[in-house]
Amino acid sequence: MEKWVYTFGDGRAEGSAEDRNLLGGKGANLAEMCNLGLPVPPGLTIVTDACNHYYENGRTLPEGLKDQVRAGLRRMEAITGRVFGDTQKPLLLSVRSGSRASMPGMMDTVLNLGLNDATVEGLGQDAGDARFAWDSYRRFIQMYGDVVMGLDHEVFVEILEDEKGRLGHEHDTELSAGEWQEVVARYKEAIREELGEDFPQAPEIQLWRAIGAVFASWMNARAVTYRTLHNIPAVWGTAVNVQAMVFGNLGNSSATGVAFTRNPSTGENALYGEFLVNAQGEDVVAGIRTPQNITEEARIASGSDRPSLEKLMPEAFSEFRAICDKLERHYRDMQDLEFTIERGKLWMLQTRAGKRTAKAALKISVDMATEGLISQGEAVSRIDPASLDQLLHPTIDPRARRDVIGSGLPASPGAATGEIVFTSEDAVKAQDEGRKVILVRVETSPEDIHGMHAAQGILTTRGGMTSHAAVVARGMGTPCVSGAGTLRVDLRNELLVAHGVTLRKGDVITIDGSSGQVLKGAIPMLQPELSGDFGRLMEWADRTRRMKVRTNAETPADARAARSFGAEGIGLCRTEHMFFEGSRINVMREMILAEDEAGRRASLEKLLPMQRSDFAELFEIMHGLPVTIRMLDPPLHEFLPKSDEEIAEVATALSIEEAVLRRRVDTLHEFNPMLGHRGCRLAISYPEIAEMQARAIFEAAVEAAKKTGAAVVPEIMVPLVGLKAELDYVKGRIEAVARAVIAESGVTIDYLVGTMIELPRAALRAHVIAESAEFFSFGTNDLTQTTFGISRDDASAFLSTYIQKGIVEQDPFVQLDFDGVGELIRIAAERGRRTRNDLKLGICGEHGGDPASIHFCEDAGLDYVSCSPFRVPIARLAAAQAAFTNGKA
Ligand code: ADP
Ligand code: MG
Ligand code: MG
Repeated sequence: MEKWVYTFGDGRAEGSAEDRNLLGGKGANLAEMCNLGLPVPPGLTIVTDACNHYYENGRTLPEGLKDQVRAGLRRMEAITGRVFGDTQKPLLLSVRSGSRASMPGMMDTVLNLGLNDATVEGLGQDAGDARFAWDSYRRFIQMYGDVVMGLDHEVFVEILEDEKGRLGHEHDTELSAGEWQEVVARYKEAIREELGEDFPQAPEIQLWRAIGAVFASWMNARAVTYRTLHNIPAVWGTAVNVQAMVFGNLGNSSATGVAFTRNPSTGENALYGEFLVNAQGEDVVAGIRTPQNITEEARIASGSDRPSLEKLMPEAFSEFRAICDKLERHYRDMQDLEFTIERGKLWMLQTRAGKRTAKAALKISVDMATEGLISQGEAVSRIDPASLDQLLHPTIDPRARRDVIGSGLPASPGAATGEIVFTSEDAVKAQDEGRKVILVRVETSPEDIHGMHAAQGILTTRGGMTSHAAVVARGMGTPCVSGAGTLRVDLRNELLVAHGVTLRKGDVITIDGSSGQVLKGAIPMLQPELSGDFGRLMEWADRTRRMKVRTNAETPADARAARSFGAEGIGLCRTEHMFFEGSRINVMREMILAEDEAGRRASLEKLLPMQRSDFAELFEIMHGLPVTIRMLDPPLHEFLPKSDEEIAEVATALSIEEAVLRRRVDTLHEFNPMLGHRGCRLAISYPEIAEMQARAIFEAAVEAAKKTGAAVVPEIMVPLVGLKAELDYVKGRIEAVARAVIAESGVTIDYLVGTMIELPRAALRAHVIAESAEFFSFGTNDLTQTTFGISRDDASAFLSTYIQKGIVEQDPFVQLDFDGVGELIRIAAERGRRTRNDLKLGICGEHGGDPASIHFCEDAGLDYVSCSPFRVPIARLAAAQAAFTNGKA
């Protein structure tokens, strides 16, 4: 016979915390608390498999279940000395649902089950308190009528309010036994009238209907929606816990409460919780009465004049505090507890790992490791890397008054305050004048980049989490609220119109990119604390991880920011960005428009000193750390003007004929630039470009080494290689330049030449390419495009549909496609290292900052990941977690 029921109580249990899948979270932890010898009212747990059986067999209960439940009840009766349905000493029950994952949307708990017109009398006589018995009975009818029979909760609330009004009572506690008896009568009458049936009197029937209701609630709409949102499989099923009641409503020496073993919002190591005297169940959280503090310390801090549990019931309190310590040590984590005190005697009703804020999670982990409760590696593994976003940016002081004028999507975390500006020009101007601004736009476009850089924060009234504003702001680490649809931008009159307020240019607003709120005025902020707990945890992370973390940076500002976040080098410096700056773009255009090599070389001569000083500055900032520089990658037409207007403008600036420029623009036009004349293909067509860049790199290396005293070992990266011969050709040119610079300067230069792996062919031929390449860097943006044959810029039209329809689970441009692109990476890593066992391997696509992808990189044996500066701490933590998990496995 299959075992459907596990019992617990009286210091032992048939299950334990290990049996979470079978007993659900609540049942497993009740069993565990019993085994630990804690005071837990006896009970039984119907396993989750019974729920599955129920659904697989047309909503029928499995055979044998009833007998096993009855046997369990007999055991509970023996332990409590009470009998279910007995009119002298009735055993009352709570019926509680509990799945593997904590799941709101399931059936609410039913308390005091087993009461009827006869047992209520016995209960009152036995307790010597008729009022208590009738209070329990009305609670039972109220809960059971609502959650099992389906009568609207409001019906009961109305009756009770009406009775209280009639009797002149303000609080529930003022009702006498007789008055509660009246309420009970009216409740039963309402059930008969509304539902056309009587409130069930037979305890057996009450019980089985309640158990059935728990199973039925597994498939109710709320629960199904919750499961879909949280990826909880329907086959998990729910367990049912049937437990002997203990009574917090048995007079003034009784109470009920909830507590956290540490403060869930600050993480402070201090017991934190609330309770109510002479109350039951969820009264504490229901807000019927204002609960009291558990500890004296908290009472004083909150300025409450109502006694703490510590003062009121010192014995129960000190036992409770000892249990908190015991449970925390046992589970090695902060616990969220529910308890009841019946006539001075403490009973534990639930324990589970407590939910907490990002800040509390950090403090608790660090404290617990310091206390020796968990290891440093465990502390590191307990922090969600994504939550660091909240810790790395200024946040609005939770005590501050918020004057919310609108809200949108929390597009990029952190809060920012500034004057409203409506154009990027105004933002740049304000920055030059040292004023702080929030750039407010309907939506942003690439032309707004300078304004976005200059602003403290960005607010758009249109666009989602992946709109231009949102994506760019996250990349820059700038707070952003996008799609604030309740606000309207009136560009002509330079107004921001909110519900009830109109703000003009220059007015101060605050945006909260973590919540999406838009607030009037300047709001007090809390600055992120990068030292303290955060610093300690990151130190442990750095000690735990194997992979290095580098950054993608080409500007000195980014490089410095990345260093301050702990980057250990540059994994990708995109040189083309340097050619767009100021007057350089025109020299670059001159070069592109030159008729012949001699003409190109003349322009490149002008670009050389600019590139050299760029590289020298980066090398100096990186102070001897590795810097990977990618040779020019985009097709040349990207540097040329597009519209007629621009063409005319550029022709004048370069003093050439408009027609000549237009012809060149036309010849360079490509149907599919992503797969066109770019990457190493440029260096093969125009080797002089690669030579200029190589010279700039080597000369800068010499210069920077002289200045800082730290040797620079540049890593020169050739993009878009598919054939070894391509790499060999470009590498030959680079080596020739190296020899020349060494001869001219008399300084030896160490350097590496490697390639980006961004074409499937390169991954497959890695063993051959590695004969020439000294490192590989996986350019996973392009590698994803070329593996899927999906252009990232055009993907938005269909990729979201793919995700909606479940064709793909994740956007492969956000999280690495482990199966396809990932397999190419594994192949390339393995084949490349077969040829050259010290081949350096890294990743420099967006995926280098994504925790799940970083985990993959650890498994694939990469040496480093490289990501945008603001993601460096996230990558450090994720890399440490990957190493820790693998080390344990
Ligand atoms: P939830 O999952 O919503 O927390 P629970 O099953 O924990 O629901 O029940 C809610 C509350 O009901 C508990 O916090 C406790 O106060 C009360 N309760 C549950 N079981 C019992 C019991 N056996 N005796 C007394 N109170 C109980
Ligand atoms: Mg509840
Ligand atoms: Mg609970």
